[in-house]
Amino acid sequence: MTTLLPTTLVGSLPKPSWLAQEESLWAPWKLSGDELQEGRHDALALAVADQLRAGVDLVCDGEQTRRHFVTTFIEHLGGVDFERRETVRIRDRYDADVPTVVDAVHRERPVFVEDAKVLRGLTDRPVKWTLPGPMTMIDTLADRHYGSREELAWEFAAILNAEARELEAAGVDVIQFDEPAFNVFADDVRAWGVAALERAAEGLGCTTAVHICYGYGIEANTAWKATLGEEWRQYEDVFPLLQRSSIDMVSLERHNSRVPAELIGLLRGKTVMVGAIDVASRTVETPQEVAATLREALEHVDPDRLVASTNCGMAPLPRALARAKTEALVQGARIVREELA
Ligand SMILES: [Zn+2]
Repeated sequence: MTTLLPTTLVGSLPKPSWLAQEESLWAPWKLSGDELQEGRHDALALAVADQLRAGVDLVCDGEQTRRHFVTTFIEHLGGVDFERRETVRIRDRYDADVPTVVDAVHRERPVFVEDAKVLRGLTDRPVKWTLPGPMTMIDTLADRHYGSREELAWEFAAILNAEARELEAAGVDVIQFDEPAFNVFADDVRAWGVAALERAAEGLGCTTAVHICYGYGIEANTAWKATLGEEWRQYEDVFPLLQRSSIDMVSLERHNSRVPAELIGLLRGKTVMVGAIDVASRTVETPQEVAATLREALEHVDPDRLVASTNCGMAPLPRALARAKTEALVQGARIVREELA
């Protein structure tokens, strides 16, 4: 990207109320069949228009064509029975109703490639596409076939890689893998998590990114965060591993979090997407607050390696609020960009 301090959203945006119930995760679609297909792509166009109007540099689809960032991908795979749903505990934190792996998993056809082509057709700006990471995928389903988290993660990594290569061919500039599970299972991250992530990104010529966060602004996550103490140092385990990895860009949570800013320095050499918008708060940040977060980050990352972003997806927020936060992000980045110029 040629712009200094480019802006981007982590991924999801709220859906229009005619498409799915607002302010809830996993909300069922309100349309079906051809109407649903058209509705999802209309919503995608609206999400892109909002970002372009605000002035976002690296544009994403707002995840308007998926019910959920992990389960929608899984439900498109063979070997997964999405009628057979089981309740599992996600990231040791909350229970969710998820699909079940009942046989060898495989990708029968591209999952998001047609949607990515729609996104590509809506703007000349660089575009980003998000995929779940292998570890977060295995943490968001019930496995009744493999009996090994690691084995299943490697299977998913190969499937993600096939999808990612087709997304790149469709014109996607940045492919981002979402791995919130990296903040919870440090031993697995070290043993095989980063390697599986690299396998998912293998051979890609576009920019690769990983997003690691403390989750959506939902009650279960807020309660969990309250137990993490004065300083959140989970990134301290993960960042040195990512710094040595083949992944180009790391997205982290920062504004209003208790993540010490100096942990950003552990990523030296990587591009860093710093969260300057709190997705768990209903208060719209001022551009000055965004600028302050970015200035602080600049003490630990070179200006040409900093991307201004949100802490996580904004799917559970009201649409007007998500729009206002997007505008604050862009305006805040502009302040710091002018200071640097
Ligand atoms: Zn997140």
